[in-house]
Amino acid sequence: MTNNPSSLDFKEIPHDGDQFELFCRDFLSEYGLYIETPPNRGADGGKDMLVIERRTGSIANTEFRWLVSCKHFAASDRSVGPADEINIVERVSGFEADGFLGFYSTIPSAGLISELDRLANKKLISEYRIFDHRIIESILIANSRNLLMARYLPTSFGATRPLSTLWGKVIDLRCHVCGRDLLDIDFIDSQMAMIVYASKLDDDKSEKIFEVKTVCKGECDQIYEGRLGAREAYTSWMDIHRVCMPSFFADYVRNVMLAIQEGRYEIQAVEQLGEIVRALAQRVMRIPTAKEKAEYKDLVENESDPWS
Ligand SMILES: [Zn+2]
Repeated sequence: MTNNPSSLDFKEIPHDGDQFELFCRDFLSEYGLYIETPPNRGADGGKDMLVIERRTGSIANTEFRWLVSCKHFAASDRSVGPADEINIVERVSGFEADGFLGFYSTIPSAGLISELDRLANKKLISEYRIFDHRIIESILIANSRNLLMARYLPTSFGATRPLSTLWGKVIDLRCHVCGRDLLDIDFIDSQMAMIVYASKLDDDKSEKIFEVKTVCKGECDQIYEGRLGAREAYTSWMDIHRVCMPSFFADYVRNVMLAIQEGRYEIQAVEQLGEIVRALAQRVMRIPTAKEKAEYKDLVENESDPWS
C-alpha cells in the first residue's frame, strides 16, 4: 500500500481506540462538512457518524445528510467488503440520512462497490461516496492540510515534507529555462536547484545585480548563462538547498538586505529576489496557526500599510 516512499502511511493511526474516527471527523470538518453527531461507539460497536453537506443551489440551498462509516483496516491492509458494511440501508434510514459515505484507510472491495451501486440504482440510498486512502491522501496533500497530517500522521508528514501554505495558495518557484518545479523537495535535496544573480558594471565601474532567476544546475544554467552572455553580464549563484535551511535562510535575508543597502541591486532584481524568498519561505517556515492566519487576513485586508 505504501510503495511510494512519499505517500502517507495510515498504519500510523492507532488501531485501538477512536483515533481513526477522530481523524475522520477532523478531516471532514476541514473539508467543509458540518459534523452533526461526532463519532460515538454505539452499543453494537458500530462507529458511524452523521455529517451535513450544505449544497448551494441557484434557487435554494439544501442540506444533504451523509451517514459516515469509518473503517480502519490499514494494519491488515485488506479491503472493506460487503461483510464489513452490513445493513447499509437500515443505518442510513435510521440516522435519517440521505447518502452513505465510506471513509476507509484502505480501499473498498469490488463486491462492496457493486452492492452500493445496486442500492443507489434501486433508490434505496440516494447517493454514495467512498473516501479511500488514496483520495484522502490526495486531498490532504493537495490542500496542504498540514496540521491534520502533523497531528495524525506525524512520521509520514515528516517524510513527505509538504509545503507550508502561508498565504492560502502555493507560490510557485520554477526553473526560468525549463519550467521545472524547484520547490520539489527531492530536487532541492539533490542540490540541483540554484538562484543565479546576473550583474553588470555600471557607469562608475561597480557591479550591479540587474536580474535574479532560479534555474536547474547544469544544462538550464548553461542555457541561461548563454543568453546572458550576449548582454555582457557576469553571474554568481546560490544553492537553493542552503537557503532552505532555516538558520541559513535568516542569514541570507539579512545579507541580501545589506547588499541592497550597499546599492548592489537594481530595483527589478530586488523585486525578483523578493518573490523567490517568498516562495522559498514555504519550504522553511512553520505552518501558521489558525489564529495567525485570521490575524494576517485581517491585517492585509483592513490596514492601509500593515508592513510599516
Ligand atoms: Zn530547468
